[in-house]
Amino acid sequence: MTPITPDRPSILTRQPRENERSAGSPLNQLVRTKIIATVGPACRDEATLRSLVEAGVAVFRLNMAHGSIPEHQESLDCIRRVSAILDRPVGVLTDLAGPKIRLGELPGGAVECVAGAEFRFIRGSETQKSDELVTTYAPLIDEIAVGDSVMLADGTISLVVEERGPDWARCRVVQPGLVRSRQGVNLPGVKLSVPAISQADWQHAEWAASAGADFVSLSFVRSAVEVNLLKELLRTRGSQARVVAKIEKREALDNLESIVEVADAVMVARGDLGVEIDVASMPIVQKQIIRVCQRYQKPVIVATQMLDSMQHSRRPTRAETTDVANAILDGADACMLSGETAIGEHPRLAVEMMRRIASATEQHYLADRRQGLLADRRQGLHDHLSGTRSVVGDPAQEFLPAPEFLMQGLHPITQAVVDGASRIAAELDAKLVVVASKSGVTAIARSKRRGAVPTVGVSDNVATLRQMSLYWGVTPLAADAGSDVNALLEHVTAWGLREGRLIRGDRILLVAGIGFGTGGHNMALVHEV
Ligand code: PGA
Ligand code: MN
Repeated sequence: MTPITPDRPSILTRQPRENERSAGSPLNQLVRTKIIATVGPACRDEATLRSLVEAGVAVFRLNMAHGSIPEHQESLDCIRRVSAILDRPVGVLTDLAGPKIRLGELPGGAVECVAGAEFRFIRGSETQKSDELVTTYAPLIDEIAVGDSVMLADGTISLVVEERGPDWARCRVVQPGLVRSRQGVNLPGVKLSVPAISQADWQHAEWAASAGADFVSLSFVRSAVEVNLLKELLRTRGSQARVVAKIEKREALDNLESIVEVADAVMVARGDLGVEIDVASMPIVQKQIIRVCQRYQKPVIVATQMLDSMQHSRRPTRAETTDVANAILDGADACMLSGETAIGEHPRLAVEMMRRIASATEQHYLADRRQGLLADRRQGLHDHLSGTRSVVGDPAQEFLPAPEFLMQGLHPITQAVVDGASRIAAELDAKLVVVASKSGVTAIARSKRRGAVPTVGVSDNVATLRQMSLYWGVTPLAADAGSDVNALLEHVTAWGLREGRLIRGDRILLVAGIGFGTGGHNMALVHEV
């Protein structure tokens, strides 16, 4: 990152005063990083959901690992109502539990695992002996080997397998702690035969399709085949939902490129990832996953424990604010809140805080990007004149490499026009880049340029608009994308003036396709309001 010099715009040159902040000014400010909030008992009433949207939530996650379908249906209905009242597209992400292994019932509901103590995993779903453990995964005993680690309770407790019999596996406690019934079991590095999509997952996916969910995520993805399986299921049910691959296993990291290539979006699911791999290397793995997503132009979500302490506290820790900021600097398109909004005491404060961190981080990041772009133009001109380099795309990115691969469904003409429009917008200091998009793919391409100029994604497809709410820097706006260019410009201009996003004399860029049958967006137009 370039050092801050006095001639550059910087958040450090002027700090907002405390009263300005509490006056809610950041809430009116455009924040490009999208916030996902997990729905749970702490927020699923209509008033709280509404308040969270007002505070900046773009997408709600329905976690199918908890609650019943009627409960989730109720939340979804409520989200749709709030979205209609506020006239703002809000995405819904249905999160399938996938092959998550859990403990069965333990005697008395909990067992103390003392360091050095022996436990036996046995078959079945419950046990009366306090030194026996059962799980929801029947073949566990057949698939673990001597020397394997078994992690319990989010990785806080670890055991090592010492001996195996036909119906048991004897383990010794390495890291002690109290374990409760139904807590998660992780087997780092063990290749399990468990199917990617369980019967419950199928049922949940079918519900997601029929209920019109915008995104469906699959937990514990191991290969691209599994992602395709879910895509196929949704497609045959007539669903337009996009599939999010949750990266939380070693095997997913081994197959990362192929998974990212087929997924519509990706989640760095740090909760389980931090148990399945060494938690110490997780920060670097997060950066690696985000880089791959940037290369393949896939939206990427960073999830879990982002503002964890705010489940109980009104203020985050310094490490947490730094974590959110760093995820954004790494290139996250969205940051997710889990327990903070689902079961926390301060869901609204957590969303507000995330938004404030995003806002402060982006101001600095975007100032850097602008500076980089100017420097690059000078360098590019120099190289062009001396014939050493032709500049394509936007190499001014300091944090993220330019995308390398064409997304599925993205026409090469569209890619080139989006790149060109992005450069023109930066050069003219335009106020908006307007992207007319049927499927939303063009909006993703623009989003992945990480341009400082805000993007408006225009579509006549409500599902596309809700999906665009996840994409970094994109504000979805309903309009007939097929209408003629002038009508579209008029519509967007009227909206921009009304919303205070435009004033007379501003320049805007329009990216659209005009009907010469190329199949791509073949036009970038500069318009002065
Ligand atoms: P989960 O997924 O909350 O559904 O486990 C996210 C994660 O593991 O980080
Ligand atoms: Mn998980």
